[in-house]
Amino acid sequence: MTGAEVDPEVVSARVRALRSRIAAVTDLEVRIVAVTKGFGAGAVRAALAAGIHDIGENYAQELLDKHAALAELAREVRWQFIGRLQRNKVRALASVVSCWQTIDRDELAAELSRRAPGAAVLVQLNLSGEPQKGGCPIDEAPRLVARCSQLGLEVRGLMGVGPAGPPERARPGFRRLVALADELGLPERSIGMTADLEVALEEGSTMVRVGRELFGPRPVRGGAAGPLA
Ligand SMILES: *Cc1c(COP(=O)(O)O)cnc(C)c1O
Repeated sequence: MTGAEVDPEVVSARVRALRSRIAAVTDLEVRIVAVTKGFGAGAVRAALAAGIHDIGENYAQELLDKHAALAELAREVRWQFIGRLQRNKVRALASVVSCWQTIDRDELAAELSRRAPGAAVLVQLNLSGEPQKGGCPIDEAPRLVARCSQLGLEVRGLMGVGPAGPPERARPGFRRLVALADELGLPERSIGMTADLEVALEEGSTMVRVGRELFGPRPVRGGAAGPLA
């Protein structure tokens, strides 16, 4: 896959703009995860050139393809897995992923602890309550966090995806996530994407996952005539 063309200078300018948007809302040190799903390895290179080393991917194969294409830069990239994770994909990803942000059930934690002992994880919460969405129910999160630790995984924090629609709709869920992270003594709160960035920062995000704001509209996944057709 080639992916859409990405202009590194445009990405650098957008990263600078994003950093000032963040600084305008919060004094916290907020890490930017550049979400490159749908784009090619060029988007990862552009992010690196702009000083971003945390790269978010949603799909196992796409991540592995980009990792292979960027072999010479492998040590510079920290792959953040942010998509729905199937247990049978863990093994192939185990030596590549830096942080697993979507741990939401016991089987996944158990498999990960077998394939990548001590791996860094975030426990994903289902903030919308819709059962078809990823993430564990908020009430079950403390138990899952404890289970992950018991399995030797390094739980760094919590992750959540805001609901679609107006950004304000994401606020109550983000607030619960941050409160729970505080309660559990977990430093990292991975909340906020292009659509709900400010709300997430106001509520205490320490890590935003941003795609379209940096790279523009995403190419259609699996488009037969190529990403920009
Ligand atoms: C795609 C995606 C993002 C980035 O979304 P943008 O709207 O492009 O900023 C962030 N987090 C997750 C979990 C995603 O799937």
